[in-house]
Amino acid sequence: MNRSEIFSFLKTKPDISVLIVGGGINGIGAFRDLASNGVDVLLVERGDFCSGASATSSHMAHGGIRYLENGEFRLVREAVQERNLMLQNAPHLVKPLPTTIPIFKRFSGLLNAPLKFFGMLDKPTERGALVIKIGLMFYDAFTGRQRTVPRHEFLSRSKALAKWNRLNPGIVNAAVYYDGAILNPERLGVELILDAESENPKARALNYVSMVGGSENTIILRDELTDDSYDVRPKLVINAAGPWIDSANKKLGLSTHFIGGTKGSHIVVDHPELRAAIGDHEFFFENNDGRIVLIFPLFDRVLIGTSDIPVEHPDDVR
Ligand SMILES: Cc1cc2nc3c(=O)[nH]c(=O)nc-3n(C[C@H](O)[C@H](O)[C@H](O)COP(=O)(O)OP(=O)(O)OC[C@H]3O[C@@H](n4cnc5c(N)ncnc54)[C@H](O)[C@@H]3O)c2cc1C
Repeated sequence: MNRSEIFSFLKTKPDISVLIVGGGINGIGAFRDLASNGVDVLLVERGDFCSGASATSSHMAHGGIRYLENGEFRLVREAVQERNLMLQNAPHLVKPLPTTIPIFKRFSGLLNAPLKFFGMLDKPTERGALVIKIGLMFYDAFTGRQRTVPRHEFLSRSKALAKWNRLNPGIVNAAVYYDGAILNPERLGVELILDAESENPKARALNYVSMVGGSENTIILRDELTDDSYDVRPKLVINAAGPWIDSANKKLGLSTHFIGGTKGSHIVVDHPELRAAIGDHEFFFENNDGRIVLIFPLFDRVLIGTSDIPVEHPDDVR
C-alpha cells in the first residue's frame, strides 16, 4: 500500500490492534517484531524515520562493557548477543569495530565495583590494566561460540607505541577489543520497516504523521504534509517517542516525567591527520573527570564525544 492507500484504508477501517508512536529504532524494532508475529500494526513518525536520537548516536552496536563494573552481567550478555545478531544479520550495515583502550595504570580501579556495590563510591578511580583485562575476559566469554568478532588483545607499551605512534607515551599498556559500528543507522531503520511490510501486509508505516491527541479509545493523527486529520481506534498504543515520551503522553492526557535534564553530544571534526592516526579503530579512554571519551572513525571525519549538557526539553537539542 502506498501513503494515500493507507490513509483511505484507515478512514474506512480505523480499528487496529496496535499503534506505535515514534519511528526511531525502538518503535521500528517493535513494529518489525509485531509484524513478524502477524499482528496488524500501524507505525507513525512525525518526521523522517530514524531522525531523532537514533540518527545521532555514537554509531556503536555495543554490549556495554562498562556495565560489567555494576555487576549487570545479564544485561551485558544480552546486549552482546544482540550485537552478534546485528553483525550476522546485517553485515552490510554493521561491521566489526576494533576498539583500542590506552591504559595508564596497572592496578587502579580494583575497588570500584565493591565500593559501588556498597554505595560508597562518588566517582570511580581510573581503571587500570588488571581491571580492564578481567572485564575483557568476561566480554569475550559473552560473545560465545559465534565468534562474530575476534577475541581481545593486550599490548605491551612498546608494541602499542609501535602500532600507534601518536599515542600518549605515558601508557603502560593498551587493549584492543571488538564491538560493532553502525555507520548508517537510518538505513538500518528503513530496511527493518521494509522487511516488516514485506512480511506482513497488515503492517503499515507512515512518516510525516504525528500523534496529536486522543480521548477514550480514539487517537488523532495528523498528516504533516497536508494537515489532514485521521482518527484511529487501536487496542494498544506503544509510546516509542524516545526523548519526546513525556510530550507524547501529555497529548494523551497523561502526566509523566521520564526524560529531562541533560543531552549527550558529540562533535564531528574534519581533521585528516587525526583521521589517519586512528585508522579503522575507535579509541575509548577516561577523561580526568571520570567521563568516558570516545574517538570514532566516521567516514572521512572523526566523531568525538560525549559530553553532558543541561537541556530541559528535547526540542531544544541541536
Ligand atoms: C549521545 C548519545 C550517544 C548514544 N550512542 C549510542 C550508541 O553508540 N549505540 C547505541 O546502541 N545507543 C546509543 N545511544 C542510545 C540510543 O541513541 C537511543 O537509545 C535510541 O536511539 C533511542 O531510540 P528511540 O526509538 O527510543 O528514540 P528516537 O530515535 O528519538 O525516536 C523517537 C521518535 O519519536 C518521534 N516522535 C516524537 N513525538 C511524536 C509524535 N507525537 N508523533 C509521532 N512521532 C513522534 C520523533 O520524531 C522520533 O523520531 C546514545 C544516546 C546518546 C544520547
